[in-house]
Amino acid sequence: MQLKIRNLEKYYGQFQALSDVNLDVGDEEFVCLLGPSGCGKTTLLRIIAGLEPYNAGTLELAGKDLSSVGAQNRGFGIVFQSYSLFQHMTAAENIGYGLRIRKIPPAERTAKVQKLMELVHLQSFSQRYPYQLSGGQQQRVAIARALAVEPALLLLDEPLSALDARVRNDLRLEIRDVQRRLRIPTIMVTHDQEEALIMADKIVCMNAGKIEQIGTPKEIYSRPRTRFVADFVGISNFLTPQLAQSVLPELGSQAPDAQHLLALRPEDISVSISDDAQARITQASFLGNVTRLTVDLGETTLLAESHHSQALQTGDRVAISVAADAGVWVQA
Ligand code: ATP
Repeated sequence: MQLKIRNLEKYYGQFQALSDVNLDVGDEEFVCLLGPSGCGKTTLLRIIAGLEPYNAGTLELAGKDLSSVGAQNRGFGIVFQSYSLFQHMTAAENIGYGLRIRKIPPAERTAKVQKLMELVHLQSFSQRYPYQLSGGQQQRVAIARALAVEPALLLLDEPLSALDARVRNDLRLEIRDVQRRLRIPTIMVTHDQEEALIMADKIVCMNAGKIEQIGTPKEIYSRPRTRFVADFVGISNFLTPQLAQSVLPELGSQAPDAQHLLALRPEDISVSISDDAQARITQASFLGNVTRLTVDLGETTLLAESHHSQALQTGDRVAISVAADAGVWVQA
């Protein structure tokens, strides 16, 4: 196990920013800290980096206590959201900076910088200054610079959020590819659920300073434990036990107790035209691959999805059905 965090607590004055945080990051793992603005993701990343003090708990790297190791001596690579390149240095000089500080001989340094430039597809940009590079290219330089010193841990704080959608998509895959090849354990902060689902081996879903759930992308999406997780990652309908029984009589599973809600994904609900049905489509939004439907059942409304084999429209009378094992019971 690479990084081990136990019972971490953080206060800013009276305000508790992190509460009882426990997290393991494995040797080659890519971990995403996912949650809404203000949930404590950046605070946690900064504590791991050694840039922020904490009030209680322990942090260990490969069995070694980090409490007395300063940020400079942790040997971590860090990339922030805003491009933090040295403006007066070329791309190659930026990437080689850490190696120069560590007094790596020039020939070895040049070879390593060259290799890293290839890794992040920047070979032809080595002599450009940051202002001559696009946002995506600057973040590639920042990532290569962080990787140059062969960090024990790579920390990424929303590195893609300032980039446009297309570049962001490309870089997501590139970063993951580089991380897999170099096998560097990585922790990335993001508020973007799609980004976390695409990139992470393990998602740490945070809410108001607490970890709500840790799991693989598949676990987080298909087996959310709480309403917050089911709501934050993907789209869910929530039904009380009574409502679920009333509108989905075919449902096989029972609520563990009255505090649980049934979280049901739109894609788990089948919708078909049925002229004598009570339910009615009140909204149909075309989303390209599917049409998202709002279905009014009288007692409640549900979001459902339809593929285009049937043309459903606003006003249609429809019947809905779900598989007996559809949905997950989550803590309200
Ligand atoms: P975002 O995605 O908006 O950056 P985040 O999840 O990274 O959010 P943090 O930056 O970790 O959130 O902040 C967590 C909470 O701690 C917030 O409520 C924030 O206002 C508070 N906070 C952060 N830094 C300080 C500080 N220096 N002093 C006081 N409160 C702070």
